[in-house]
Amino acid sequence: SSPSPASPIAHGLNLAQQEAVNYLHGPCLVLAGAGSGKTRVITHKIGRLIQMGMKPEQIAAITFTNKAAAEMRERAKSLIGKSAKGVLICTFHALGVRMLRQDGAALGLKPQFSILDSDDVTSILKDAGGSTDVATARQWQWTISAWKNQGLNAAQAEAQASGDEERLIARVMGHYEERLAAYQSVDFDDLIGLPLKLLKEHEDVRSKWQASLGHVLVDEYQDTNATQYEVLKLLVGERGRFTAVGDDDQSIYGWRGATLDNLKKLPQDFPTLKVVKLEQNYRSTSAILRAANNVIGPNPKLFPKTLFSELGEGEPVRVVDCDSEEHEAERVVARIQSLRAEGSLLPEGRQYREWKDFCVLYRANHMAKPFEKAFRKANIPYKVSGGQSFFDRAEIKDLCSWMVLLVNNDNNQAFIRSIKTPKRGIGHTTLGALNTFADTYKLSLFESLFSNSLGSVLPAKAVGSLQEFGRYLNDLEYRAKRCVGAEDARIFLTDWLKEIDYEKHLYDGEDSEKVASARWSNVMDFCDWMSQRCGGQIDDTSGATIEKPTKTMLEVVQTIALLSTISEREGDQNVVTLSTLHASKGLEWPHVVLAGVNEGLLPFKLDDDDGQNTDSIALRLQEERRLMYVGITRAQRTLAVDWLRKRKKGRDLIAGVPSRFIAEMALDKATIKEDPREKLKALRAEFAKKSADGLAAAAAAKAAYEGR
Ligand code: ATP
Ligand code: MG
Repeated sequence: SSPSPASPIAHGLNLAQQEAVNYLHGPCLVLAGAGSGKTRVITHKIGRLIQMGMKPEQIAAITFTNKAAAEMRERAKSLIGKSAKGVLICTFHALGVRMLRQDGAALGLKPQFSILDSDDVTSILKDAGGSTDVATARQWQWTISAWKNQGLNAAQAEAQASGDEERLIARVMGHYEERLAAYQSVDFDDLIGLPLKLLKEHEDVRSKWQASLGHVLVDEYQDTNATQYEVLKLLVGERGRFTAVGDDDQSIYGWRGATLDNLKKLPQDFPTLKVVKLEQNYRSTSAILRAANNVIGPNPKLFPKTLFSELGEGEPVRVVDCDSEEHEAERVVARIQSLRAEGSLLPEGRQYREWKDFCVLYRANHMAKPFEKAFRKANIPYKVSGGQSFFDRAEIKDLCSWMVLLVNNDNNQAFIRSIKTPKRGIGHTTLGALNTFADTYKLSLFESLFSNSLGSVLPAKAVGSLQEFGRYLNDLEYRAKRCVGAEDARIFLTDWLKEIDYEKHLYDGEDSEKVASARWSNVMDFCDWMSQRCGGQIDDTSGATIEKPTKTMLEVVQTIALLSTISEREGDQNVVTLSTLHASKGLEWPHVVLAGVNEGLLPFKLDDDDGQNTDSIALRLQEERRLMYVGITRAQRTLAVDWLRKRKKGRDLIAGVPSRFIAEMALDKATIKEDPREKLKALRAEFAKKSADGLAAAAAAKAAYEGR
């Protein structure tokens, strides 16, 4: 049945949004400020494309996080019903997994390849560099990642290296690449780099993907990096049927290689590009929006734009000075409690304020701690997002490494972790010898187990216990392959945990019973999670359509490395959110607190790194400004901005100074309100001075940018 013109797809869109949604046959860029309905354009456009007869499978929508993907899938479903299921909605990385699974053979990759997380990479680099320390390995990791994002391999990196240090890293990169190939493993950068290689070098693969995709939509386009842009270009081909939405003022991942050049390149690479600008903000009150516009104002503009809101002036932004982090946490508790009490007095209970209406945003993960403490004391339910992930917990990594090893026997990282969990009387010497043997013959550790010549480097007894482990793995793999659906998975996991006596392993390894039992309960959660996934109740994170109602365990395992949180559980909880600013992108809450808005925190220390030239300081200040802008624009109804009179720096307590951004927010007095009032005058003076500094710095930044 053909939908009526008043279908929900056109409903709830302004004219500019409709223009973007209805432009189906060529490249389209929606460029607009925060909260102007860019993400909404993507969701509605998916609906529109399907309405116009495109098959859901021909549509791919790329989001920045798994969580955003899950949310978009939900929204699309409520808009167009179950046909939304067939649409590929996922992150760039998950798309990469899918491409490599289907076509990685062309690059010598088996479909069951492993995805290494950042810790795995560090430890491989430690090893590849001859047992260096972790800090050095991390630095190498950073450099190598940057090279990879520029599309360089080890040989090319070595050729362009300047200085001995870089040449050394390039050589380590060579060893690292060899190891990854031997282990049938890829790192996160490869999930973009290898698909690019596939599309570039294998015409058949390229035409296959181009033919299968009718339209590609990209959210948060400003945070794509050069490699991702190349992938996008090759996926859409010359027809260029894509829709990118973004906001240059919200580009906050420069440190990860994201580049605004991608925005500048679009009109050059796609001369028929249609650019749509959205100007109405549907999220925030005018007071909040003005504060945001004031802060971002000094940054150089790629495209001029002005945002307005029809939601009314609203409450002024409240600036709160706090004595210390602990004091700040107490004040936030008080604020939440009083806003909730106020909400319950509003007519018809319509504005009743739920816990989930509140969010506290901060610069760095560790800043959550004082809030967690104060919230627990005050019985306020909360969640920390973007913090330590469930999958980073030691016990979960143990279990995952076993699972991963079953999928890909050649994954050495997983092999080492599994053989030690629990301990089975195989010592360091034995493992060391096995490792050397494997290196010499260019075999994976698992392959080496059954090599005839292993006996020449190890005593028979050691070979015996190693092979016993190998046989157990083979047996387990045989059983795992036959597990389909929730019930199978549950039985498999329960049996296996009993066989390796994992519960005892946990209790043996912990002094405190309480800690051990908490860990065991995480293990149970993991089992639930696995079996739900196998049962097909929960969508795969890769965004892959569920073609069959159930999955094998091994299929589920492969995408675990992509998960940063068990987002399903976060989903609809009615709790206060604690989050880093970076992780808050694209989201919104009625009541937001920006915590620790001090000079040195936000903006982050700009000047005490040696060897920084003024250009790069100016560019970093611009990125800090965008981060502040992202924070402010998460708020719908009220915004509080806190700064600390005393803050911790390392072990010291130092005097705190309010961020220059606070001063800039306050360019007009109606926008903000200081709290407490009696300090207003002193603060104003401080702001005025700061403001002058801030504007001078901004002018310098602008000049540096334009002279670039
Ligand atoms: P960000 O830059 O932060 O990612 P965005 O531009 O993607 O923001 P959305 O999240 O799509 O903005 O929309 C912001 C809010 O405004 C959402 O709550 C959305 O539902 C609402 N909204 C968007 N467009 C409209 C519209 N035409 N009418 C009413 N509400 C809208
Ligand atoms: Mg958005």
